[in-house]
Formats: sequence, C-alpha cells, structure tokens
Amino acid sequence: MIYNRVALIGLGLIASSMCHAMRRGNLVGEIVGTARSEETRQIARDDDLCDRVTETAAEAVIDADLVVLCVPVGAMATLAAEIAPHLRPGATVTDVGSVKRAVMDAVGPHVPDDVHFIPGHPIAGTEKSGPRAGFAELFDNRFHLLVPRPGTDAAAVMRLRQLWEGMGANVEEMDADHHDLVLAVTSHAPHLIAYTMVGVADDLRRVTDSEVVRYSAAGFRDFTRIAASDPVMWRDVFLTNKDATLEILGRFTEELFALQRAIRTGDGAHLQNYFTRTRAIRRGIVEAGQDTDAPDFGRGRTR
Ligand code: NAP
Repeated sequence: MIYNRVALIGLGLIASSMCHAMRRGNLVGEIVGTARSEETRQIARDDDLCDRVTETAAEAVIDADLVVLCVPVGAMATLAAEIAPHLRPGATVTDVGSVKRAVMDAVGPHVPDDVHFIPGHPIAGTEKSGPRAGFAELFDNRFHLLVPRPGTDAAAVMRLRQLWEGMGANVEEMDADHHDLVLAVTSHAPHLIAYTMVGVADDLRRVTDSEVVRYSAAGFRDFTRIAASDPVMWRDVFLTNKDATLEILGRFTEELFALQRAIRTGDGAHLQNYFTRTRAIRRGIVEAGQDTDAPDFGRGRTR
C-alpha cells in the first residue's frame, strides 16, 4: 500500500478516475471522498466509488495520509482553508488543477508547516464531467506533472510519484511558471480557439444551425468536442493563467494575420510551408504515443 488513507476533495472526472485507477492497482488502503453537492455524494455512494463518503471536506481529511484537491482551480483556496486545521501532521496535500502557479499561491499559505504540499497536474482528461465520467485507464501512458516547491521532502515526492505511476502515468517534475506556459500552448489557448470557432459558427446566420450540425466535418466536429468541456473549470483556467495565455494568444493572432495575408495575396508557398511544418508536429505527437494514428482519431466510418 502506498498510502493507508487517501481523501479526495471533489468527485468529478479526475477524482472518479483516480478511484478506479487506485482500485485497479490496489494502491491504497481506504479511499474517502467528498463533494460539494448531496447529489454527487449520493451518486458516489450508489456507485460504490469510494470506500467512504463524508458530508464535509474537513471530515474527509481526518487521518488521511494523502489529500487530493480535485475541484476547479478557483475553489481550491477556500477548501484549503477549510481542511487546514484537520490535516494530520506528516500528511501530503496535492491537487490536480490545470494551472500551477495560482494553486501554489492560493493553497500554499494554508498548508501547515508539518504537512507536505506537492502540487500536480495529470495531462489527461476528456470533455465529460462528474462522478460517472471517470474510468481506470484515463492516466495510462499520460504524463503527470509534479511541481514540488524547493526544499520539499524528497521521500514525500517519491511516494506521490509512486501513486501516479501505479495509476499508469509517466511522472515528471516541472517548475510552476514553466508548466503554465507549456500548458498555455498545448491546452489553454487551443481550448479558447475551439470555444471561439464554435461560437463563430453559432453566430453565422447565413449558415443555419441545422446545417452546422448536419454537415459537421472533422475539423469543426473536433472543435465542438473540445468546446463542450466544463465551463466553470475553463473559466478558472483563464482567470488564473492569464499572463501565459495572453502571451500565446498574442503570438497566435500574429500568425493568423500572416496566414490571412497569404490567403489574400495568393501566397501558396507560405501556406504550404506552414502546413508542412504543422504536419510534422502531429507526427511527433503520434510517435510519442500521445494520440492514435488511426484516420479520424479512430472514429471509424461516419456519415
Ligand atoms: P468535474 O468533473 O467538473 O468535477 C468537479 C468537482 O468539484 C465536483 O465534485 C464538484 O462538486 C466540485 N466543485 C466544483 N466547484 C466547487 C466549489 N466551488 N467548491 C467545492 N467543490 C466544488 O471536474 P474535473 O474535470 O474532475 O476537474 C477537477 C480539476 O482537475 C480541475 O481543477 C481541473 O482544472 C483539473 N483537470 C481537469 C482535466 C479535464 O480534462 N477535465 C484534466 C486535468 C486536470 P459537485 O459535483 O458537488 O458540484
């Protein structure tokens, strides 16, 4: 057993996937969970998601040797303040939030000196939310980034690393600011672009809604999947990773203008060179095992 008792605060996609993955690997003694709403807590009881479900976060963390904050980034500070007096000395607090500097700054001050605080972020997810969205394989062969603060106890970091490896992830360590910049490029800006594209299609009155749905081609369809992601989670990502996201969006806008000019002036060489470069990036992602090479993402034949 890597931990005797793990407390999950929030029981959505990531926490429920952790429940399944921890049980699959028989990694921990007891899983205690809690969520804000009685509805989610009841689903967790009905589905036997955790070994025990508590009414409050304060109750959940009692005697836990690992506490995982699995709520939207903007909710973490309040929860950290609520659980802080009930944390067991020597315990570890971690999180799964998509932004790291803001979580460090918001949660860090609440964590007592005798508790280890090791922020983390699984680079794995889907557009689905809630306690029934999780599955044991979510973290398999995906990265989990740990962002320990300088001076963090090495044994505590190693133990947390073992848990994530046991759940199937490849664990790496990264600095918080670098994490936020990398994720702005690979996840945050792309989500904003997808939200925008789907919003634009929705605004185009010359193309009816039914045509958008009926003739939805691969490009747009992939955008709609991303743009179906949880609105609260993504609101918090942009509010808390402001600088890096704005930096990447500035660069994006410049490149978009250059492509716009190439289209207007008929500069085919510019377009072709650009698309050749982007194709190579896609090949790199597939070769790194981070996506399927199957045509249309393995969806098979569709209408
Ligand atoms: P989710 O499925 O939407 O579940 C969120 C959970 O947090 C629910 O149990 C919800 O409780 C609880 N919650 C929401 N707002 C709260 C508040 N103000 N106070 C207390 N509890 C609150 O979310 P998720 O996808 O698992 O995401 C959880 C965290 O993982 C987020 O920080 C997100 O950035 C990060 N993350 C997500 C993904 C992804 O693809 N989804 C990937 C990597 C990391 P109720 O059910 O009772 O409302």
